[in-house]
Amino acid sequence: MSYIDKIITAIERKDAGQPEFLQASKEVLQSLRIIADSDSTYEKAGLLERLIEPERMIVFRVPWVDDCGKVMVNRGFRVQYNSAIGPYKGGIRFHPSVNASIIKFLGFEQTFKNALTGLPMGGGKGGCDFDPKGKSDGEVMRFCQSFMTELFRHIGPDTDVPAGDIGVGAREVGFMYGQYKRIMNNFTGVLTGKGIGWGGSLGRAEATGYGLIYIIEEYLDKIGDGFKGKNVVISGSGNVSIYAAQKAMALGSTVVSMSDSNGYIYHKSGINLDTIKDIKFVNRERLTKYAEIHKDAIYTEANSKPGSSRVWDIPCDIALPCATQNELFIEDAKKLVQNGCKIVGEGANMPATLDATEYLINGGVAFFPGKAANAGGVSVSGLEMTQNSTRLSWTSEEVDAKLKTIMKGIFNSINSASEEYGVAGVTRNFVIGANIAGFKKVAKAMLDQGVI
Ligand code: NDP
Repeated sequence: MSYIDKIITAIERKDAGQPEFLQASKEVLQSLRIIADSDSTYEKAGLLERLIEPERMIVFRVPWVDDCGKVMVNRGFRVQYNSAIGPYKGGIRFHPSVNASIIKFLGFEQTFKNALTGLPMGGGKGGCDFDPKGKSDGEVMRFCQSFMTELFRHIGPDTDVPAGDIGVGAREVGFMYGQYKRIMNNFTGVLTGKGIGWGGSLGRAEATGYGLIYIIEEYLDKIGDGFKGKNVVISGSGNVSIYAAQKAMALGSTVVSMSDSNGYIYHKSGINLDTIKDIKFVNRERLTKYAEIHKDAIYTEANSKPGSSRVWDIPCDIALPCATQNELFIEDAKKLVQNGCKIVGEGANMPATLDATEYLINGGVAFFPGKAANAGGVSVSGLEMTQNSTRLSWTSEEVDAKLKTIMKGIFNSINSASEEYGVAGVTRNFVIGANIAGFKKVAKAMLDQGVI
C-alpha cells in the first residue's frame, strides 16, 4: 500500500465520525501523492502521520446566563494544529453547527493557508456551538466573556492568536479582547480583527473579500482579461461576501446576487451594497428586507439541499461561494458550467464538495481553492500582529499594497506548483498547486525541527 493510502486508511478508521475533517484531509492527501509517494523522506520521518494529527485540541464548557436569568451551556473548542512555522493562528466561529470535525477541518486547512501567505504563522482554529443570531448585546457579551475565561490560558501573542470567522465580527472580538485584558492585566496583540484605535489594523475587515478579488484579478491579468463587464454571483452576505462584492464592483463588474441561509436575491441591474451593509451590519436583519426596499430585485427562498432553488442557478461569469462549507454541490457545478461560468473562487472554507471541485476543474473552470483564495484575511491579521509588536499603525493604502503583494505571491506559488505537478490533461489545477505549495513549506520546517 502506498504511503498516502496508508494514511487515508488510518484516518478513515480513527476519524470515522468526522466527515468534514475527512473531506478536507483526503483532498490534501490526494494532491500530495505525486510527491509523498515518490520520496521516502516523508514516510521515514512519519511526516504525514504528524501533520494530520493536531498538536493539541482543547474542548471546554462555556456557561452563561441569558436575559431571562436562565443558565445556558455551550461547548467551546480550540484546535492548535501545527506550529512548525509560527504561533497558531486562525479564527473563532460561533455557529450552532460547530463541532470537533468542523473545527479540525478548519484548523488543518488553516495550516496550509497560513504557509502560503509567506508570513510566520502556524495553523489553529476555534469556535463554539453558540448562535449569536437573535441574542441581545448583553447576552453576546456575557457569552464572550465566559468563552474567554477558559480560552485565555491557552493563547498568547507568541503562542496562539485567534481572530473572527462566521458569527464573530468586531463586536465579539471586542468583548473577548476586553475579558482577556481584564484577566491578564496586559494589553497585547492576542487577537486580531480588533477595533481601529485599540490595536486593530486598517483594512482587516475588507481583507478576505478584497484578497479573493485580487488573486482572481492576477489570474485574469495573466490571461489578458479583467473584471470589467463580468457578471458575478456571490453566496452569503457576511463579512467576506460584502467586501468581495465591493472590490469586484470597484473593478467594473456587476454583482447580481447574494444570499443568506434562508434564500437569495437576484438583482439584475446590480446589488446595492449600501442596502446590504445596513441590513447586515447595522440592523442585523434578513435578506428578505432587500427585496422590500428594491422592488426590481427578486428574493427566492432556498434551502441547502441540491436540487432545490439555488443561488448557483443564476448565470454568471464568476461565482464566489463565500458563506460556509459544502454549499456548492455537483448539481450546482454542472449548472455553473452549463451557464458558461469561467471562474470559481472560494471565499469560504471548503464551500465546494470534492466532486463539485473536480467537475469544475475538468470542465475548464479556473478554480481557486479557499486555502489560497481567502488567505487575504489571515494575511492582514499577520500584518496586524506585526503592527502590534512594533507599536506602529500603517495607513489603509500601506496595508492594501501589502495585501496585494501577498495575494500576487500566493497566485505565483500555486500557479508554478500547478504547472510543475499538474495532472496531465488538466491545465492550471490550482487545488493541487495550493496543497503542494503549502505542504512543502510546512513539511520543510517540520523536518528541520526533528520528531516533535
Ligand atoms: P459571516 O458570519 O460574516 O457571514 C456568513 C454568511 O454566510 C452569512 O450571510 C450567513 O447567512 C451565510 N451562511 C452561514 N451558514 C450558512 C449556511 N449553512 N447556508 C447558507 N448560508 C450560510 O462570516 P464570514 O463572512 O466571516 O465567513 C464566511 C466564510 O468565509 C466562512 O467559511 C469562513 O470560514 C470563511 N473565511 C472568513 C474569513 C474572515 O476573515 N472572516 C477569512 C477566511 C475565510 P446567515 O446570516 O443566514 O447565517
